[in-house]
Amino acid sequence: MPLVDMKDMLHHAYDNGYAVGAFDLVSLDFLEGITSAAERCRAPVILSLAESHFDYFDFELIMPAVEAAAQRATVPMAIHLDHGASMDSAVSAINLGCNGVMVDASHEPIPDNIRCTCAVVDMAHACGVPVEGELGYVPGVEGEDAERHPGEIAYTTAADARNYVEQTGVDFLAVSIGTVHGRMKGAPKLDLQRLKQINEALGIPLVIHGGTGLSDDQFRHLIASGVAKINYYTALSDAAAKQINENTRADASNGFTGLVKDIRTVVAAEAERCMRLWGSAGRAAEVLSHCHPWMPVEHLIIYNVKGIDETRVETIMAEGRRVLPAIPGVRGVFTGEAMQDDAKYRYTWLVRFCHPAVIDSYREHPDHVTFADKLFRPVAGERISIDYQIVDPVIQGSSYVGH
Ligand SMILES: [Zn+2]
Repeated sequence: MPLVDMKDMLHHAYDNGYAVGAFDLVSLDFLEGITSAAERCRAPVILSLAESHFDYFDFELIMPAVEAAAQRATVPMAIHLDHGASMDSAVSAINLGCNGVMVDASHEPIPDNIRCTCAVVDMAHACGVPVEGELGYVPGVEGEDAERHPGEIAYTTAADARNYVEQTGVDFLAVSIGTVHGRMKGAPKLDLQRLKQINEALGIPLVIHGGTGLSDDQFRHLIASGVAKINYYTALSDAAAKQINENTRADASNGFTGLVKDIRTVVAAEAERCMRLWGSAGRAAEVLSHCHPWMPVEHLIIYNVKGIDETRVETIMAEGRRVLPAIPGVRGVFTGEAMQDDAKYRYTWLVRFCHPAVIDSYREHPDHVTFADKLFRPVAGERISIDYQIVDPVIQGSSYVGH
């Protein structure tokens, strides 16, 4: 199950002078293209989902596929929320299976950015999930012409960056040193001196947004100055669109499957080119041995009740199924009743946590405390409660089939 801790993954890249690609995916074609590129060149990779794209696919529906793709992979992967806009987005991303989140309050004044980022960091770290913050402003929109979204670049300064990282505790920092989101006419001019100063001041993995359009040399300079994660989407989107246009030209009567034919192939080719250029190709084995695997925990309770009838038990369980899944780090809540009449324990709770850190943060979360103290513990007299670390889960459909 090569889902790995993203902080370990990016520190390996940072310490060893290469960068991991964080490729935004917008469909299953992109997902398959990106994962097959990583398999082909044995690269660690970040499967990235940008909140700005949530109009184009259902985040809740696509996440099980993204997770299955990571679980069946043989190279290390992480799943990341790109440009999360709020605390709610970060919580739901973690509960749906992201093991890294970006909080983007970079358009806010620095004190507000710090306040908003701090809150997300506290929540995410209590779930074992690392956080990427952004300071300075990278204008533009992923996948579109930069000229259509002309915002002013706000450059990150080393002093602001140090203050921001110290105060927020972010694990990685997206910096603004001259790149823009989307397509540019001509190559962007990068302020590499500024990047070097930021890197010396921070010593944590840096992130570049707006990777499309940079020259091979520019990428090498970025990586040499601490960039360990490169966000990349526009060039993948352009490759896919070009393929669709070619499919249309080749046969005007093409139906949908004819139009989208070979998107996976062209997305994979561009992603693989990046992995080789950025130095992540061939690193899979060392990353796997260096990183903690990302493995869930099953919080199991079996119990009997005293003094209440079946209907009341069901009401309490229903209330638990309503409030507990919203607690950060909870992947799922299952309740059940024994099928055998003579079972020693009649009822069960099975709560899945994304990470062992959630054992403590869940126990202390106000919604859990209220539920447990007011409703559950007063009636659940006899009970056993155990947290199990799940080792190497085998899920149907998750065995990797080579391409
Ligand atoms: Zn971005």
